[in-house]
Amino acid sequence: MADGRGAGGGEESQHRLGTLLNGLRATVLGANDGIVSTAGLVVGVAGATPQREALLVAGIAGALAGALSMAAGEYVSVSTQRDTERAALARERRELADDPTGELEELASMYRDRGLSEELSRLVARELTDHDALRAHAEVELGLTRYRVDPWQAAFASLFSFVLGALVPLAAMLLSSDVWRLPVTVVAVLTATGALGAVSARLGGALPLRAAVRCVAGGSFAMLVTYLVGTLVGTLAPL
Ligand SMILES: [Zn+2]
Repeated sequence: MADGRGAGGGEESQHRLGTLLNGLRATVLGANDGIVSTAGLVVGVAGATPQREALLVAGIAGALAGALSMAAGEYVSVSTQRDTERAALARERRELADDPTGELEELASMYRDRGLSEELSRLVARELTDHDALRAHAEVELGLTRYRVDPWQAAFASLFSFVLGALVPLAAMLLSSDVWRLPVTVVAVLTATGALGAVSARLGGALPLRAAVRCVAGGSFAMLVTYLVGTLVGTLAPL
């Protein structure tokens, strides 16, 4: 169960592919987050003030804060999940040592619940227990696969992808002239978020167009709301 030794070669490569796809999807989603939240922020500030310095400061601070918050959240959530899984595995290991007969019976009953006959569920439970009892219980009883994420790796991946995504609205805002600033940013953000949405749907086996439309709608909504609020604030309390 722990590191997959003794698994067949096909299963192993399928497992690696799953890990890779999961990582890619997380990266794409992180980048999308960075694009949309930073775009909302800079468009909101642009609604309040035409000052380039204000945009620069707000954009960089927002991108950094968002990236760090996402990395910290990812670290906490992945470590918590890992600790929970470890505790469950330790409990399972103890139960297997203390009451092997009861655990065998438990495994067989879980296969019965899933629709196997009395005889077959006993046979399956017996053979899986002989092969790797802990792994059998982990997979069937706890629903744990062998896929493990390292919390630090998850944290750095989301930090990096968020910053990368944030660069899209930041670059569009800061590199374009005053007149073109807003339209260029909107087009760049919607193009990037739509493309990433389609890619992430593809990786997950879902419909790319639907995901792209959803991302573009979400991005438009975020920018529209913050622009309106920014304009309102800029009008009420000009900087
Ligand atoms: Zn068990």
